[in-house]
Amino acid sequence: MKLLQRGKAKSVYASGDGTVTIEFRDDITAGNGAKHDVLKGKGSLLNAINEIFFKELSSHAVPNHYFESISENSFKARKVDIIPLEIVVRNYSAGSFCKRYGIETGKKIGPIVEFFIKNDALNDPLVCKDVVVKLNVSTIETLNKAEKLALKVNNVISEFSENHGLILADFKIEVGFHDGELLVSDEITPDTCRFWDVKTHESLDKDVYRQSVGDPLIAYKEVLRRLSS
Ligand code: 5GP
Repeated sequence: MKLLQRGKAKSVYASGDGTVTIEFRDDITAGNGAKHDVLKGKGSLLNAINEIFFKELSSHAVPNHYFESISENSFKARKVDIIPLEIVVRNYSAGSFCKRYGIETGKKIGPIVEFFIKNDALNDPLVCKDVVVKLNVSTIETLNKAEKLALKVNNVISEFSENHGLILADFKIEVGFHDGELLVSDEITPDTCRFWDVKTHESLDKDVYRQSVGDPLIAYKEVLRRLSS
């Protein structure tokens, strides 16, 4: 298969039939690639978690790129023209929100939707819709649609997670067009979401790696165990 794109933790291949194959590698990175490790088995864990969430989106008729898992660590998806934005939905304060606004972690704040332009050299700057439009990254109509889509994803994934003992504190999605339709793309995993234990607020996501407070594989296995039970 032809490699179309190699990201920090996933590779995208042309499947040959107009679809793409997205492979979760075992790489884990943080701080815009400043920290990097290879954790054996991480790719297959994320592929399994991602499958659960995208199937949940499909069962709620949320338009998305997912077709099916095709190996332990890869899935087949519709090819989309990705909009170079990270769309973040926050339910509880955490991460860059706390740093930016000087707020403690764990406050109920959302849902709030934020847009960041994907640009490693600029460390993905936070932008408002007017700036996105001015920079010709997207149109206001698309941004409004993307915002609605992100909030739908939040409803579906929050409810599903909570039913399995996990708070969805925040997450990032990417969206793209396929045949004129805006689809949720990329991945929905503990690499892109903050999941907290519903009782203790213990992190079960990439923060374990970002903050070097434990074994991320143990956290990811626990997320999969809960979502599957
Ligand atoms: P924050 O802005 O607090 O760093 O991230 C907010 C949410 O979006 C977190 O769940 C985080 O995992 C996700 N997120 C934001 N930017 C990125 C990114 O560049 N890569 C990944 N994997 N997740 C991100």
